[in-house]
Amino acid sequence: MLRTSLLAAARSPLARKVVERSPLTKPVVNRFVAGAETPDAVEVTRALRDSGRAVTIDYLGEDTTEVSDATHTVKAYVELLSALSEQGLAAGADVSVKLSAVGQALPGDGHRIALDNARLIADAAAGVGATLTLDMEDHTTTDSTLDILADLRADFPWVGAVLQAYLRRTEGDARDLATVGSRVRLCKGAYKEPASVAYQDKAEVDGNYVRVMRILMQGDGYPMIASHDPRIISIAGDLGAGREFEYQMLYGIRPREQETIARRGDTMRVYVPYGVQWYGYFMRRLAERPANLAFFLRAMATR
Ligand code: FAD
Repeated sequence: MLRTSLLAAARSPLARKVVERSPLTKPVVNRFVAGAETPDAVEVTRALRDSGRAVTIDYLGEDTTEVSDATHTVKAYVELLSALSEQGLAAGADVSVKLSAVGQALPGDGHRIALDNARLIADAAAGVGATLTLDMEDHTTTDSTLDILADLRADFPWVGAVLQAYLRRTEGDARDLATVGSRVRLCKGAYKEPASVAYQDKAEVDGNYVRVMRILMQGDGYPMIASHDPRIISIAGDLGAGREFEYQMLYGIRPREQETIARRGDTMRVYVPYGVQWYGYFMRRLAERPANLAFFLRAMATR
């Protein structure tokens, strides 16, 4: 119920105004977001790299309705990749891109615009030795995103995909993607989805996560296990013993556990969001976990 309300608020312009304008929100947002500008993302990357963690960086934004905004997002990624390169931090870094931020949601030609824009970012990543992963958004975009992935991979075979364990279709998608050279991030899924396409029950989502993880671990691709769930992390360690894969977690969530995993020699990649458009991202984090919401309310109450 709470999760549903928060996910609805994540897409409500009115709720957005209220939350964004509150001066009390900022310190809490800072826990999950690296900062507003490129240098902020670069500095967080440096600190994470110094502690043995890898990064995938997200320039925040989604549901773009103007071509100029999509172009602005592409420029931000190109500038980021160049800044990482100048600081010697680009090799091995990854950028995460929401196709809706580079035009997928534009009426008419959105699919093609998003493909062209994602290609520009892939090209910039290739130039500095970084990689690109296409984030997955709500289920109405899944087919378009997987089509764009296939087109991009013809030229940039290392472009990664994301699969969401809550979607009923994901087992089939995982079989299609568990092939040589294919980087696949598996997450539970963060959007409000109808029962016709997505499991609603947490136990069912978790069960499907393990089923899909098994397919990816037994396949020929490169699994990226994105979860903070101790049970999932432990099963991943068992299923992935002796093969290459990586763990992924979000910036600001379970940082001690991130360090522990990195210290034992496994690859731990942290998803680092930055930019001023943090609202949708932040609300999805609150929806995921009542403790995040309690943290937010406590911070507001004590200021
Ligand atoms: P949950 O079921 O939320 O939590 C399970 C357990 O994990 C909890 O019981 C607790 O023990 C632990 N835990 C969770 N959160 C915390 C916390 N804040 N502090 C301490 N312990 C905690 N979603 C998409 O839809 N598309 C994407 O492209 C996408 N990319 C992602 C990339 C990365 C790297 C990650 C980590 C997540 C991504 N997500 C994405 C979000 C994802 O779908 C989930 O919404 C989110 O990760 C929460 O699920 P969980 O697996 O952590 O488990």
